[in-house]
Amino acid sequence: MALVSAWRYVASVDLIDLDELWSMGIRCLLLDRDNTIVPRDTKRAPESVRAWIARAHELGFAVCFVSNNFHSKQVEANAAEFDAGCVDHAMKPFPFAVHRALKKMGYTATQTVMIGDQVYTDICAGNLAGVRTILVRPQCRRELWYTYIFRAFEGIVLHGKHFEGE
Ligand SMILES: [Mg+2]
Repeated sequence: MALVSAWRYVASVDLIDLDELWSMGIRCLLLDRDNTIVPRDTKRAPESVRAWIARAHELGFAVCFVSNNFHSKQVEANAAEFDAGCVDHAMKPFPFAVHRALKKMGYTATQTVMIGDQVYTDICAGNLAGVRTILVRPQCRRELWYTYIFRAFEGIVLHGKHFEGE
């Protein structure tokens, strides 16, 4: 179960306590984009998420998007908007993109946390790469067709899990 278990479960990304992560020695935030930072329906990050990323920069965190999205231009545009690094075509759950992001940002696995809304992509990739993982709830219900299939299996491993902030 270790592969599909997150280190922490938090209701949404903006509820993640950045000061606490910093005090634990975490310096690098790897962020899934779709439905973690940018909702699939509105395509625009909410103000609360914008403020959270701004605060991360203020504290000194390195921030990098690690996205399975194949629309590189959109992902890169968002990354630039948030002054973040960017690894697209990530092919999570494979851990390669996480390794690539660590190399790109210049941090070790122990200094890093991967944050995302899907167990079978974000959390598995993070666990396989040896970084800590935080699972958040998806920002909206609109998903890609195959994500609905993953969600059914997620229901099994997430049964009874408490998400901080809920
Ligand atoms: Mg996602």
